[in-house]
Amino acid sequence: MNALEVIDLWVKVEGKEILKGVNLNIPKGELHILMGPNGAGKSTLAMTLAGHPKYVVEKGKIVLCGEEITHLPPEERARKGLMVLFQTPPELEGVYVADLINKISERFGSKVDVEELLKEVNLPPSFAYRYVNKGFSGGERKRFETARILAAKPKVVVMDEPDSGVDVESIKVIANTINKLLQMGTSVLVITHYRNILKYVTPHKVHVMIDGRIVKSGDISLVEEIEKKGFKEVVMH
Ligand code: ADP
Ligand code: MG
Ligand code: MG
Repeated sequence: MNALEVIDLWVKVEGKEILKGVNLNIPKGELHILMGPNGAGKSTLAMTLAGHPKYVVEKGKIVLCGEEITHLPPEERARKGLMVLFQTPPELEGVYVADLINKISERFGSKVDVEELLKEVNLPPSFAYRYVNKGFSGGERKRFETARILAAKPKVVVMDEPDSGVDVESIKVIANTINKLLQMGTSVLVITHYRNILKYVTPHKVHVMIDGRIVKSGDISLVEEIEKKGFKEVVMH
């Protein structure tokens, strides 16, 4: 069964058509990569999957494990097992890391040891008593996001450029988390511009988005082809 199905999805943002018929299927336990030039609509797809109210679905469907979620509010989607990791996770002043992790794990019915979890993503135990993302470096934020995801054990995870602006150590932690998620049977969609993360994870499929549509899909060799020839050349052939 497909964990995530996006069917002919058309999305408007502030009156402008951005997604123009996106089709995407991700089977259970698979890793798919989404690439494409700046402004193609990749982040728009991530925001739409998250259920951000500014992203208006004009047409089409989003289906999570056989259940349509196109018009559900963000919390409902998360509760059903769809998590989206954003490019810039927000600071939560006054919310302790430990409290947030405990709340997430309770809500999703999985008990986790906060310090153990922090260790898994290479954050020191002292982070348990810091406010969420407050004063965290870019890499620390991304690593904490992956901890948040591991605590929730979701069915589908979407990561928007988890590897941009972070050091190699953090990329390895993110890749490690992706591999753990895949082992748990979670499906993962990673939006990325870079090859770096692909040294540590093996995608089942690579998709290319241009101008609001997925115009080409293939295996990992597509990444190399894009690097050599560029997006335009690759999708024309
Ligand atoms: P990508 O992530 O592939 O670089 P985006 O999804 O961020 O592309 O952007 C796609 C297009 O949608 C761009 O032309 C961008 O300017 C526009 N867009 C995205 N978000 C908004 C927004 N909140 N308001 C207005 N336009 C937006
Ligand atoms: Mg961009
Ligand atoms: Mg983007």
